[in-house]
Amino acid sequence: MANTVYLLLGSNEGNRLEWFEKAMQLLQDAGCNVVSQSAIYETAAWGFEDQPDFLNMALCVETSLNPQGLLALTQNIEAQLGRQRTIRWGQRTLDIDILLFNQDIIDTPQLKVPHPQLQNRRFALIPLADIAPAYIHPVFNKSIATLLLECPDNLEVRNYKF
Ligand code: ATP
Ligand code: CA
Ligand code: CA
Repeated sequence: MANTVYLLLGSNEGNRLEWFEKAMQLLQDAGCNVVSQSAIYETAAWGFEDQPDFLNMALCVETSLNPQGLLALTQNIEAQLGRQRTIRWGQRTLDIDILLFNQDIIDTPQLKVPHPQLQNRRFALIPLADIAPAYIHPVFNKSIATLLLECPDNLEVRNYKF
């Protein structure tokens, strides 16, 4: 398992917790090792705000897949869990974003890593800071905890009560 990867799961449609459980199971079934998971947070939708609230959770995954292979797997899991691609930032059963892949910097049309919006989104930084506060962002050379302190976003991110 050569690669350490951080993923962000998001859902604002249907049984949101169930999509997270199924996504983790499908990642494990595909040979990815889920080594840690954040708490679950609830956030008002970002982008188009007239839609249900999101749940978000960050995962640390160890995998032997390369970045393109991991993107293909996460998109396959999204499709299996019924995601309909309509508008960007629209309502969805499950979204899986690759936040960080080792210390790699990737800039292709299909895949940009670190995720280009990570530093601007409290709903991504807060769960990521649960499991990787000291991890250094390879573009900004700052820790996740520091990026969270400096983040200009002020959308409320609250602990999700089961
Ligand atoms: P955002 O990326 O701003 O969170 P989104 O998650 O709603 O928006 P999607 O419709 O899920 O966007 O994805 C659009 C495309 O983004 C995907 O088809 C994928 O090729 C590309 N992409 C680029 N970088 C990444 C990344 N780090 N993780 C996941 N997808 C990425
Ligand atoms: Ca996303
Ligand atoms: Ca996405």
